[in-house]
Amino acid sequence: AGAPAVEALQFADVARLLPRPGAESDKYRRGVVGIAAGSAQYPGAGVLAVAGAVRSGAGAVRYVGAAAGEVIARFPEALVHEGPPSHAGRVQAWVVGPGLGSGQDGGRLVADVLGTDVPVLVDAEGLRHLEPSVVRARTAPTLLTPHAGEAAALLGVPREEVESARLASVRGLAAAYGATVLLKGATTLVAAPAGAPVRVNSTGTAWLATAGSGDVLSGLAGALLAAGLLSGDAGAVAAYLHGLAARGASGGGRGASGGGPVAAQDVAAAIPGAW
Ligand code: AMP
Ligand code: MG
Repeated sequence: AGAPAVEALQFADVARLLPRPGAESDKYRRGVVGIAAGSAQYPGAGVLAVAGAVRSGAGAVRYVGAAAGEVIARFPEALVHEGPPSHAGRVQAWVVGPGLGSGQDGGRLVADVLGTDVPVLVDAEGLRHLEPSVVRARTAPTLLTPHAGEAAALLGVPREEVESARLASVRGLAAAYGATVLLKGATTLVAAPAGAPVRVNSTGTAWLATAGSGDVLSGLAGALLAAGLLSGDAGAVAAYLHGLAARGASGGGRGASGGGPVAAQDVAAAIPGAW
């Protein structure tokens, strides 16, 4: 028999991969993550992506976007950069997409970030501006984090088709874009382009089905990319911690029947405890 098609993500795998600082650490070696997210219409998505990154061990978080005032008011730790993301110094991984408008400005921002030679996570509205050939031509890893609706738009099929064939969908996207793909939902699937077993995470809770929780995940995964994790490991570890953090914030419940409601910002605040 060949390699298994799917692999449940285990505590031991995650524990082994979690970055931890040592005596030799400094903020640049810990990883600088850039967040290009949020717009005048959706400033909160930028704030929540920054929240996820700030709580996930980044040495520094650089923010680019229309929500700079809100970001700094909530997270004085963040550094704000004006101008194209590619001109910002020392960023080791970029997150682009949460809360971007779907207009030209969003397209320019995504193209600029994809033109860098560091790992890039593309989420939410950023996924509307993807060209497979551009993603395939990148020299650094790309991690796409769609939910079922976004995956369906990328594949050009109805959402129900993704929901009834999640494994084939995540694999098909990874192959088409030459990227690592994290498909969100009640369980999260992470597929690498080269066809390694798809990793399945089920630490989450149905209370996570709430606005902004995906934006927190993008910042969390971006911080792990900036810390140097491989894109598949960053996606898998982020999904695992995000689920645990949500259960922690929710009062320890698993599934819809346990715990209580969570707000996305509470999930971000619970990441350090999940670590
Ligand atoms: P988004 O769709 O971008 O807002 O992201 C939603 C987040 O919540 C993702 O991390 C999903 O995996 C998670 N999520 C959504 N629905 C459920 C559910 N029913 N059970 C567990 N996690 C969920
Ligand atoms: Mg989302």
